[in-house]
Amino acid sequence: MSVTNGVARQKVLRGIGVSPGIVIARALVYEHQTIPVFRVPLTRHEIKGEIARANRGRIETKRQLALIKKRTEKTLGQDHSYIFEAQMLMLDDELFVDRIENLIRHERVNAEWAVKTSTEELASMFEKVDKGYFRDRGSDVNDVASRLIRNIAGNSEISLDKLEKNYIVMAEDVRPSDVTQLDRDHTVGLAMEAGGKTYHTAIIARSMGIPCVVGIPNLMQKVEHGTPIVLDGSTGSIIVSPTKETLREYKVKRKKEHSRSRRLSRLQTLPAETTDGRSIVIQANIEFPEECESAIKHGGEGIGLFRTEWLLSSNSGKFPSEETQYRVYRRVAKKMRPSSVIVRAFDLSAEHFGNGSVSEFESNPAMGLRSIRLLLKHRNVFREQLRALLRARVHGNIQVMFPMISGVGELREAMAEVERAKQELESEGTKFGADLPCGITLEVPSAAAISDLLAREVDFFSIGTNDLIQYFLGVDRGNDQVSYLYEPLHPAILRSLRFAIDSAHAAGIPVGMCGEMASDPLLVALLVGFDIDELSMSADSIPVVKNIIRHLAAKDARAIAEQALGLSTVKDVSRYLERELRKLVPDSY
Ligand code: PEP
Ligand code: MG
Repeated sequence: MSVTNGVARQKVLRGIGVSPGIVIARALVYEHQTIPVFRVPLTRHEIKGEIARANRGRIETKRQLALIKKRTEKTLGQDHSYIFEAQMLMLDDELFVDRIENLIRHERVNAEWAVKTSTEELASMFEKVDKGYFRDRGSDVNDVASRLIRNIAGNSEISLDKLEKNYIVMAEDVRPSDVTQLDRDHTVGLAMEAGGKTYHTAIIARSMGIPCVVGIPNLMQKVEHGTPIVLDGSTGSIIVSPTKETLREYKVKRKKEHSRSRRLSRLQTLPAETTDGRSIVIQANIEFPEECESAIKHGGEGIGLFRTEWLLSSNSGKFPSEETQYRVYRRVAKKMRPSSVIVRAFDLSAEHFGNGSVSEFESNPAMGLRSIRLLLKHRNVFREQLRALLRARVHGNIQVMFPMISGVGELREAMAEVERAKQELESEGTKFGADLPCGITLEVPSAAAISDLLAREVDFFSIGTNDLIQYFLGVDRGNDQVSYLYEPLHPAILRSLRFAIDSAHAAGIPVGMCGEMASDPLLVALLVGFDIDELSMSADSIPVVKNIIRHLAAKDARAIAEQALGLSTVKDVSRYLERELRKLVPDSY
């Protein structure tokens, strides 16, 4: 280990900011002692003993995870300990365990190699999937596997739970099971090469309030132990060996940020109400049940979008059973009661169904067989999810929404499935909530254009602007070559939002927004002016949006919306909204 004294030249590294906050401290470079795994051929007589060794390692790993789970329960609450329950389940997963045993038996390889091989197979399955949360679940698999290999080999763990002074922990990958073991008093920041926004480590860091940046390429080659660091978890930047001026600049920023977050934290229990008394429901978008706690902590009044696709990835890519789903939905429903929880039906693409049952190749998957189209092709999967949701409705305010609905016919087919699920439950004598509200994610332009017709058939709308904008403007949301055209303030988008919201109200149903647009401070006045009922966003955006709403009068917001609708270019709209926002909340920008 070598320690630099700040004489080195300043370097700025960029990653993804996943937990906000500015921290200044020295780097603790944490290298996993990943033990090298070699392939050792076995004789026939050694096979039995090797399988027993793998099993002993598995039992020890489960014992350790149970301890970590208990400890996490104590420090972070039950919601986070669930991650380790899922990891323990992975160790009992038949597919995983049988594959390890088969490799030892038939390939005659040592237990460590068998674990490594079967983990790589599982992880590569996740990596093939382009959605961040599936890729990120691959890291959970690796977390369990490296612990298992270590235990089979009889190596003990390195500990991060007692540090002597404040550090920013830097690592290739801080695994979810490591992050809950961190010394909370002295770990002031976290940076790593691996991970995305939905990696469990990022989620845990967020709810522990540890500023965190992930996805920094080659971090370990660029930082030495003891180097002074500035980490900005909001912008996703790391400054290695900052100059005196940089330090000064960030200390000022940090001070401002502290006083701002102290002010905003006072809003937690206050309603999102305009100065003339109009209430907007502010909700959180979540992917995992354990995020409910952070939603509540940030003042969320329910869950406006619960993405359920992760349920596959935590189940080795298989569809979870009705019972597993029921337990998850019930847990979230109970936690958020009496607030509503809008669960989105599986928003998947054809590749998740595999098995040759559908074409694996689509030249344009964003417009292909996905979401509701796919669920209507695989009715058993859809029905199981609906049954689980209907049953969970007994325990709280669960609601369901169907993604990518493009027309009334398609919607009616989905609604018919809900009726069939109810009939099944009824005839079996299983308890369920027959009044399950059903809505749609309004995200396809054809649906926006006929929102008046759709509004008569559902209980609510939730506008999914991420997809709506990409389809409306013909701009792939993930393609940085054309990202400059991805414009939420395009007059075409504003007009369609206005029409969708008015249509919903004319039919007497509420309308929310769950796309990223809902959390943009610049747009709050506009959306309130359009009379949106609910805004759903990542939990840490809630205080900022609430603050703006509490400075705004609904009647002024309506005038702002009218004015914005009369402008012809994105630039004009955004300049106008910026000016209005500065007037309203001078320090929100
Ligand atoms: C959307 O499309 O706006 C949305 C919320 O869903 P996703 O980003 O998961 O497609
Ligand atoms: Mg979408």
